[in-house]
Amino acid sequence: MNSLRLITVMGVILCLNWAQAAEEFKTAKGKAVVTPVNHATMVVEWNSIIIYVDPVGQLDWYKSFPKPDVVLLTHIHGDHYKEAVLKEVVGPKTQLVAPPALTGALSGGLKNKTISLANGASTEKVGFKLDAVASYNTTPPRKRFHPKGQGNGYILNLGGKRIYISGDTEGTPEMLALKDIDIAFLCMNLPYTMDVAAAAKAVKAFKPKVVYPYHSRGQDTAKFKALVGDTAEVRLLNWYK
Ligand SMILES: [Zn+2]
Repeated sequence: MNSLRLITVMGVILCLNWAQAAEEFKTAKGKAVVTPVNHATMVVEWNSIIIYVDPVGQLDWYKSFPKPDVVLLTHIHGDHYKEAVLKEVVGPKTQLVAPPALTGALSGGLKNKTISLANGASTEKVGFKLDAVASYNTTPPRKRFHPKGQGNGYILNLGGKRIYISGDTEGTPEMLALKDIDIAFLCMNLPYTMDVAAAAKAVKAFKPKVVYPYHSRGQDTAKFKALVGDTAEVRLLNWYK
């Protein structure tokens, strides 16, 4: 095989891998493509906007993606925020969004790039409407993990589709009151967030059309899917390769 054909074949294999890993949704402005990266980390591409969510881990996880236009940070814990990784992945034009508690912890260079978005606030400065949803623990022994007011989940309003990324939370009143969510990425793990039964109960309340368990290491997501039943389409991805 000559080298040109080899490169073509390799390219096709890469594309196939890419296609298998990414989830695509139709919007009024082209596709939204969501690629699970790991645990709580994902990359969303829509309308030529590249969005990284909680980029942590290894730099080679991001090699196949363009530099982000937007980075969404949910909270300060190490499985969501690593300043050393952030410094490497952000480009000169990257806009960060973080809850105030995290913005305050960022170093000057990153802080200057950050929109501080409090629970319940919205911004359109990122090229789409972005809503911050409170994420926190409600069960007394777990409140110390994620106290109310520290963390954000986000709703990305992309060409008429509403994508909810929960952050680390239990089924808070704010979550249960969400309306018109097309796609939800929902955390579930003990002791830090909620168990699969509580997550399924939350789904039955706010009724997203499609739901992806994420931040779900070691959890019985098949049980979650069974508990959700017909309320939503549950899609199980491999977040822990
Ligand atoms: Zn976490």
